[in-house]
Amino acid sequence: MAEPILKVALDAPVMQAFDYLPPTAPVSLRPGQRVSVPFRSGERVGVILELAEDSKIPRDRLRRIRVCLDPEPLLDAKLMALLDWAATYYQHPPGEVYAAALPRLLRRGRGEAAHQHAWRTTAAGIAALGEGSLARAPAQARILTELIGKPWGMPMEELRRFGAATAKTIRALATKGLIEKVRATSPPLTGQPAPRPGPILNDAQRAAVEQITGSSGYGVFLLEGVTGSGKTEVYLQCVAAELSRGRQALLLVPEIGLTPQLLERIRARFPTVGLAVMHSSLSDGQRLDAWQRARRGEARIVVGTRSAVFTPLADPGIIIVDEEHDASFKQHEGFRYSARDIAVWRAHQLDITAVLGSATPSFETLFNSMSGRYRKLALPERTGAAGHPSVHLIDLRRHTPTDGLSAPLLAAIGRHLGEGGQVLLYLNRRGFAPTLFCPGCGGTIDCKRCDARLVLHRDRNRLVCHHCGAERSVPAECPECKGTLYPLGQGTERLENALQMHFPDAPAERLDRDTTRRRGELEERLARVASGRARILLGTQMLTKGHDFPAVTLVAVIDADQGLFGTDFRAAERLAQSFVQVAGRAGRGDRAGEVFVQTLFPEHPLLRLLVQGGYEQFAREALLERKAAAWPPYSHLALLRAEASRAEIAQDFLEAARRQAEGLDLSDITLLGPAPAAMERRAGRFRAQLLLQSPKRPALQRFLAGWRPLLAELREARTARWSLDVDPLEAD
Ligand SMILES: [Zn+2]
Ligand SMILES: [Zn+2]
Repeated sequence: MAEPILKVALDAPVMQAFDYLPPTAPVSLRPGQRVSVPFRSGERVGVILELAEDSKIPRDRLRRIRVCLDPEPLLDAKLMALLDWAATYYQHPPGEVYAAALPRLLRRGRGEAAHQHAWRTTAAGIAALGEGSLARAPAQARILTELIGKPWGMPMEELRRFGAATAKTIRALATKGLIEKVRATSPPLTGQPAPRPGPILNDAQRAAVEQITGSSGYGVFLLEGVTGSGKTEVYLQCVAAELSRGRQALLLVPEIGLTPQLLERIRARFPTVGLAVMHSSLSDGQRLDAWQRARRGEARIVVGTRSAVFTPLADPGIIIVDEEHDASFKQHEGFRYSARDIAVWRAHQLDITAVLGSATPSFETLFNSMSGRYRKLALPERTGAAGHPSVHLIDLRRHTPTDGLSAPLLAAIGRHLGEGGQVLLYLNRRGFAPTLFCPGCGGTIDCKRCDARLVLHRDRNRLVCHHCGAERSVPAECPECKGTLYPLGQGTERLENALQMHFPDAPAERLDRDTTRRRGELEERLARVASGRARILLGTQMLTKGHDFPAVTLVAVIDADQGLFGTDFRAAERLAQSFVQVAGRAGRGDRAGEVFVQTLFPEHPLLRLLVQGGYEQFAREALLERKAAAWPPYSHLALLRAEASRAEIAQDFLEAARRQAEGLDLSDITLLGPAPAAMERRAGRFRAQLLLQSPKRPALQRFLAGWRPLLAELREARTARWSLDVDPLEAD
């Protein structure tokens, strides 16, 4: 019998797997094992996709696998089927898809994770505590008390969360022989892990938990809960139900850095349950460890960002996507997948429940719930005593603002501060001013490499491009006419200055990318807000993401017009989402809140609908517009993007791609373009795009499968950089 041919996925931009012969040493080879193979002049690690009988390449030209790295398959058949589907659906090279799903150390050929260590009490430690001999070392006593309930020990990282657990205290205890270092393992799995009891649910929460935990097999629930309605509590109770059935829960969140409160709640509720947290700022070793623990079933709860959707799970029971509308679930470069959509597919594949939670569901998800594909569960009430906030529009044509603040808003801020409330101001623009303007010649200072203006950052005294990162010094005068330059418009930095001038006794905390760059800085700032030391809180999009600010009684949207006239088909949806998310921060404790919205267009129909009717009514209206224009969810899109050092190169590639497409079966497919991108020049490169639209997803998929391989063969593909984005979030 002839030797099998092994199809291996390698991290390379090629649409097929690579064929190899088995290694010379006899070994059992199965799909899902990693192998190290010769590749060009070097060596690479790949994953065996399948064993085949023959290859298009003659056997005598095939190279041999050098070594098989895993005695057992690392990836199970289900996870591989998921990755294969994703590669096909997103028209992306399978090797790169597999690479995206594996921790870096595994991609580099490493095996088992380095063991994490934990500390646990010794018999002497237990005795010491009983005898009270540590009365004069309260910090040490506290740690011992904590450890006594944990026979499997606690990792240092977890111990550190007790203020007193410094490395020095630990060392002191270890020197006395009261604690010892052991290899970290997860708590023993008992049939009934005992979560600490949660708060009593309101009727809507209870109904939601009953529906979700009572369903069996595949089902998708949209958990639509206004901000503050207690979605997290519903998640936790559903997780508890899965754990008690001996199954794991996967919880996807937009950004770990923004959800420390959520993690704290999970740890507090499930203190004895193995937890793995997967996000981008883990070290390679930590990531591998979390991945392995999820795969072996030691971690019963897995919390992670986008790529955690590919985490291997030993006993999957439920997948929850929190803030499912969040744009960060979509990967914007390379393998452009939607973690939310993959989560739903994976739940279907595994025949389990998926829960998509949001106060402002994406229009796709709303549409699926309206059509009955998803079951909608609503949490209409807030859990605290506070009712819904009252919303007021401030007409900026009547009340000209200074530094972004109108007189009625200043009065409201003063009143709320005077009554002891906290104030939150939302402005989705960082820096001091979006541009420097010369009234003499009407000029602005633009980025040399982008079709964009440079933003003034007065903190650093630099002009910065927010698109390519280019920086320059602030010119003393207009380079064209030597006139005086003035900062035009405002960003968060300028707003902060103005607030400090108006309210010198109210400390302000600014939350944007500039003030949270340093590790831990965001947490420090949030802590100052939580403690009440900060009275005013201002910032960008960051404020809209899941934080709980119970003392905030006033929320102000400084510039509601930013999103009102966007060119992208999703502009209105995004505006409504950030508006509702930020307004929801008002009055979450026991005090009712007020929301002030500054706008030049107080009679704009969408704005009125949003203020008076709320998100759902707004969405219904906006969906009608989408339907009329045949945008998603009433159509399916794929976007072919190209960029090059000259505009013609990108254009030529897309023209050639279009001619290729016209030679194929275009039934149910509309081609739009090629056309320059909304911002044509970015970082010195010219960008253009060709949009494909279809009312039928299978038709689009079929077409892409035939078209994608032809694109790579185009002569023009060698000079333009290009990418295909299936279900793009933006299409302008
Ligand atoms: Zn000038
Ligand atoms: Zn730039």
